[in-house]
Amino acid sequence: MSHAKRAAAFVADAERTRWHDEALWFVREKRDAAAASVPDWEALRSEAAAIKRHALSRLPELWERFEANAAARGAHVHWARDAADHNAIVLELLRKQGATRVVKSKSMLTEECGLNDHLERHGIDVVDTDLGERIVQLRGEPPSHIVLPAIHLRRHEIGELFVEFMGSEPGCDDPETLTRVARQDLRERFLAAQAGITGVNFVIAETGGFVVCTNEGNADLGTTIPDLHIACVGLEKIIPEMKDLAVFLRLLARSATGQAITTYTSHFHGPQSPDHALHIVVVDNGRSRLLAHDSFAEALACIRCGACMNTCPVYRRSGGHSYGTTVPGPIGSVLEPSRAPARHASLPQACSLCGSCADVCPVKIPLHHQLLAWRSELAEMGVTPRLRKLSLALGGRVMASPTLYRSAGWLVRRCGGRLGAGVLRWLGQPWTHARELPPLPRESFRARFAARRAER
Ligand code: SF4
Repeated sequence: MSHAKRAAAFVADAERTRWHDEALWFVREKRDAAAASVPDWEALRSEAAAIKRHALSRLPELWERFEANAAARGAHVHWARDAADHNAIVLELLRKQGATRVVKSKSMLTEECGLNDHLERHGIDVVDTDLGERIVQLRGEPPSHIVLPAIHLRRHEIGELFVEFMGSEPGCDDPETLTRVARQDLRERFLAAQAGITGVNFVIAETGGFVVCTNEGNADLGTTIPDLHIACVGLEKIIPEMKDLAVFLRLLARSATGQAITTYTSHFHGPQSPDHALHIVVVDNGRSRLLAHDSFAEALACIRCGACMNTCPVYRRSGGHSYGTTVPGPIGSVLEPSRAPARHASLPQACSLCGSCADVCPVKIPLHHQLLAWRSELAEMGVTPRLRKLSLALGGRVMASPTLYRSAGWLVRRCGGRLGAGVLRWLGQPWTHARELPPLPRESFRARFAARRAER
């Protein structure tokens, strides 16, 4: 299903659309204020971009260095070619431990790999412990945003969910009370967990350690109580040295939520004690293919701050689920077509090419240029929708020929506007489904220009 069709369901609820748009714009404004408070913000962005591009050009060397350093600290590193490999490795580790109750902190990678479903099919109970993630897990739906997974939901919807699953007071939609109820419920699950799974924000080759950033401290609780910690990380998350980390930590939270730093920045260097085990699963799942692609490799520099989503006018008004991908928004529209071009062919077309995403991206990924590049790439692959191809070909022919252009304008005006507007609407769909075209002028620009000149 195309982005436009999925978005239709979201847009049909005008109140939700308005509220979603405003909520994300509020976060965008917080980001602007936080960025403005750092005098060397632009220099930081440039430095982060340079570090990431340098790291992406040396991945094999950096990962080898990391593996040796992590092993020296007592951690085990596993390599997963794809999602199936990743899920099999995690399941095997849990089985060896005899673990059937697992707590997981937010990890878009495990979402991408469908880990929860896989483990549940094999009798393992997985509880997402980030509050937003827990909410969408209980609703049986994917996150709609990479940093704010339940941003598409209103308070009363969360209140109703908690009545059903956590026995909270009916009618309560007070965020503090609901958070207290969730905390109580989660605490029991933390205490009963036999393993903790986390994502990873940054892996440091120099030290063999890694960092997990959360606002709720759930990654710390989930990895301190059980004896087994499994950290799942994408191939692109490595940085060379510890000093590089400071650059990214200054950018990440400011870009994501406008905070100076995430509430918890947890460093893991080997297992926490001789009784604990630490396993790190490094996942490719299409990343090396993307890395080999000149036009889109830079997208791997993404640090998953979500700023491009918060600022994107399309994302804000169509909701994250309209993308039908694990990572939605501008960066998702760049990443996902590389996995399944035909399935995600509508995503680059949904972009307005305003460039706001690239302006806020802390690692300077030229997102709108990449989305434009995807349009030609997908056209070459032959997966652009037929009607769009036809209307673009027709438009191209008309624009390229002054005679055809003049004749088309004459025909449209001659038909009194109604037929012409109908044709334009047909050619421009679905763009014109929810927009009124301005009234057609009575005469062409050329005619008016010539008349003015004659008057003078
Ligand atoms: S592409 Fe840039 S702005 Fe978007 S999530 Fe990634 S780092 Fe953040």
